[in-house]
Parts: sequence; C-alpha cells; structure tokens
Amino acid sequence: RVLTAREIRKTFIDYFTANHEHKFIRSSPVVPFCDPTVAFVNAGMNQFKSVFLGTAAAPHKRVVNSQKCVRVGGKHNDLSVVGQDGYHHTFFEMLGNWSFGDYFKREACAMALELLRGPYNIDPSRLYVTYFAGDKLLGIPADMECFDIWRSLGFPAARILPFGSKDNFWEMGTTGPCGPCTEIHIDHRPGSDPGSVEQRAKLVNAGRADLTELWNLVFIQYNRNTDGSITSLPAKHVDTGMGFERLTALLQNKSSNYDTDLFTPLFDGIHSLSKAPVYGGSFPVAENSALLDTSYRILADHARMVTACLADGMLPDQNQKLRRVLRKALSISEQVFSHENLLSQLVPIVVETLGEAYPEMSSKQQAVLELIAHEQEVYKNLRESSSKIFAEVLTEFPNLDDIDLMECPGFVPAYREFQVQRSKFANNTIPGDFLYKLTDTYGLTEDSFVKLAELENMNCDLERYRAELALAKLRTKEPQRNSGIYDLALQQRIAEAQAQLTMRLAATDNSHKYFY
Ligand code: ATP
Ligand code: MG
Ligand code: MG
Ligand code: MG
Repeated sequence: RVLTAREIRKTFIDYFTANHEHKFIRSSPVVPFCDPTVAFVNAGMNQFKSVFLGTAAAPHKRVVNSQKCVRVGGKHNDLSVVGQDGYHHTFFEMLGNWSFGDYFKREACAMALELLRGPYNIDPSRLYVTYFAGDKLLGIPADMECFDIWRSLGFPAARILPFGSKDNFWEMGTTGPCGPCTEIHIDHRPGSDPGSVEQRAKLVNAGRADLTELWNLVFIQYNRNTDGSITSLPAKHVDTGMGFERLTALLQNKSSNYDTDLFTPLFDGIHSLSKAPVYGGSFPVAENSALLDTSYRILADHARMVTACLADGMLPDQNQKLRRVLRKALSISEQVFSHENLLSQLVPIVVETLGEAYPEMSSKQQAVLELIAHEQEVYKNLRESSSKIFAEVLTEFPNLDDIDLMECPGFVPAYREFQVQRSKFANNTIPGDFLYKLTDTYGLTEDSFVKLAELENMNCDLERYRAELALAKLRTKEPQRNSGIYDLALQQRIAEAQAQLTMRLAATDNSHKYFY
C-alpha cells in the first residue's frame, strides 16, 4: 500500500522519537526571529543556530523536527526554477534529526539508512551517497571516515562518491561552526553508469534530474576561527535535512513532487474553480516556454508559500520577496486562469493538506484571507493608477504593448536608455556590459532582456552579462585586508575570476566599452 504524505511525515517523527529517543520540536515560524542573517527560515538549522554557536542550551540531546522552509532569496534562491522542474519549491518541508553533542557520524548514517530501508521500504540499490572530498585551498582533509562508514553499512564503493566543498562542506558563515556533509541521492534510473554521476545530476529530463538529492547529513565538527584557521569543536553535532516532498514523490512512485497528494488537491481545486483544462504533468522543454502546466505548478507552489508566510505574521508591505510571490500568484490567477479570487480559494485547500502538521495555518486562515484581499486591492489600485502612466508611455513607444510593465517597472527607463545607446551596438547584439548596467540601475532580469531582444529583433550577450554579474557578486564579498587563510582563499578565487573575465573580454569586441 502506498503511504499518504501525512503518514510519511508521521513515520519519520515516530521513528526518531519512539525508536531512537529523540524529542520532537515544532517547526519555527518562517519569519527568521532566530537568525537575522536570512530573510526567511530556509533550513531546519536556523532555529538551532545559537545551540551550535554555544550561546544557548540544546532543548534535548536528540531532536527531531519538520521545518517549514522558504527559499526565494540569498544563498538559497530557488524562485527562478520553481515550476520549471518537479523538485524545487519556494515553500517546502525539511525533515530533520539532530544530535547536539550526542551521537555522531556512524549512528547518523546507520539510522538514516535503516529508516529508508525499513519503515520506508526503499531498495538501497536505488541510492547513492556522497562524502566530502577535501579542499586544499580551505585546508580541510577528505572525510574518509564517512566513506568507511558507508562501506561498512554495505554500500559498494562505486556508489559512494567524493564531492567538493560547494556541495559537501557546510559553513554557517565566514567564521563559526562548520563541517563536512554526506548526501543521500536517489537514482531514478538504477543500473546506469555510475561514472558520470555529476553529469547525470545535471541532466534534467522531464522536470527531474536523473539523480536527485534527497537527504543531507551535516557533521559539525570544526570551528572556523577569525584568523581563518580551523580547529576541532569540543562537542560535535549532527544536523540533517531531508526534502519531504521529494521523499513523498519517491514513496508514492511519482517522478515529480507535484504528482503527490501534497499538490494534486490544489490542482483539482484550480481545475474545478477555473474550468481550465486539467493539469497534464508536462514540463517545458525550453527555458521560458509558456505552458499551462507550469502555471498550474507555480500557482500551487505560491499558494503554499503565501499561506505559510502570512500565517506566520509576515506582511507583504515589509517583505518585497513575499509581495512579489503573492503578486505573481494573483496575476496567474487572473491572467492564466481568468479567476480573480483563485488564490484566495486555494488557501483552504493548502490548510487542508498542511494544517494538521502546522496548526497555525488553520488558526490563522481568516487573517491570511484578509491579507490576500488587502494586497489584491492594493495591487489593483496600483495597476489602475499606473495604467494612465503606461498609456502615455505607449503613445511614445507603441511597441511596448506586449510587455507587462507592471511586472517590471524598470523596463521603461531602461528602454529609453537603450534607445539612446543602440547605435553604438555592433553585430546586432546588445552587449553584456550594457545589460549588466540595466540590472544594476533598473533591476532588470534576464527575462526582460529576452523580451527586449525579441522586441528589437536583436541578440543579447548573456554570457558576458553573467560574467559581469558574477564578478559584481564576488566584488561585494571581497574580504578585508590582513585577515587569515580563509580570506586568502577567497581572494584567490576572486583573482581567478577576474583573470578569466579579463581574458574573455580581450577575446570579445571592445568597441562598445563606453560607460566605464
Ligand atoms: P538541491 O541541490 O537539490 O538544490 P540543496 O543542496 O540546496 O538541494 P540542502 O540545503 O542540502 O538542499 O537541504 C536539504 C534538503 O532539502 C535537500 O536534500 C532537498 O531534499 C531539500 N530541498 C532543498 N531545496 C529544496 C527546494 N527548493 N524545494 C524542495 N526541497 C528542497
Ligand atoms: Mg539548492
Ligand atoms: Mg545540493
Ligand atoms: Mg544539499
């Protein structure tokens, strides 16, 4: 028999509380009270940060939880892929077990494997695991202990893969607790060549990578000191996070998280309320191709995110990311599904699927609906008052008729600037440094560039644009002088990136370098 999402969540918590003496701790709100460095709670660890830093006592030595997470900004920004693939959401639940100075690697790996194999009945030949390969630049050795543990638990060496620090070394910040992790991945095509795992993880097919990450187990064993050196922590901790929607898809034999009972009630709701054709489960083959199914996914995803955030007391007035997601959901409701109040009417369905696990969603339902109604009103008024201004713009630039200027208010001034500069652009191409300037000055994104290029029948140099953007990001991270090894490593990376960019610039046409 196939387990329901509710049973899957309960099985996780019961396994750690009843079989392994963990204490259940409720999810924190998605508002990051506990962690001012993020805009939303984005992992199970946020609420335990002070325990790792040693400034608060652990609630218990062993803890289990399911945490409401939002990833629409900062280091973890999944917003642009939501709807495009079947396994990244703006809002998702992270299941975790925790050891605060109690058990460590061996027990953590053994418990995880036993849970997947036993209660969840997953064939271990469908799993891959990774371990930290070491990083000379950061001065941290490979985690061979972890490799040996997986071997002793019966994993063949060919399915225990070394990964670098990007995926398999976790740091809280530039200083503080850190450590290697091991990740459990699901192979959707067991028996394929394991040698090309890294490529296969990137090969997204029908909305899903061939290998998807399921569970991340972090071993917090080091401290990064202010001079950049690494020392061992006196108390070692375990922090794990498993994607609940991905687990549910696996256990319900679905290739997409959206085909599970966490989302199908929302799709049924959208269909019956809007009378749009039913959700067909297809994924875009090309980026940016419009598809009714993608709108279904974005709307269902955003309805969950908006309900979770508003129920936790976040206000769109104070949080631009939340406002953007909410407005996107409102405009899909109206423009794709021709139903003004569709988003509001999905809220009770979200509450039906999540309210048992997160009772605040049920108790705050009325407030959530009022806040959506208010935002809808504000948005409508804004549209009406702007439409007068837009009407004037359209007499100046009639070809902007197809652009949703509400979605991107910076488009008009950017377009004016484009008109001024265009005669300088060679090869019918909008240069990357000009595009970067539009991002920097008017907040334009790649989506808008694609529209601009279409409008003008030109190409854009996105590669150069991305390089400029990456460089700007590195620059803001540029470390202080005279700080330790870690900063040197970062400086080295910046220098490398700059050298690469300079090389690429030299190889391209420089005739348009006018605004530096
Ligand atoms: P990915 O590489 O797939 O983006 P991640 O490495 O960013 O995942 P972690 O920070 O390790 O994710 O979080 C722990 C787990 O949470 C992941 O193993 C995954 O199962 C799940 N997860 C992460 N991001 C999302 C998301 N946007 N939507 C749904 N589940 C997610
Ligand atoms: Mg990610
Ligand atoms: Mg990952
Ligand atoms: Mg991960």
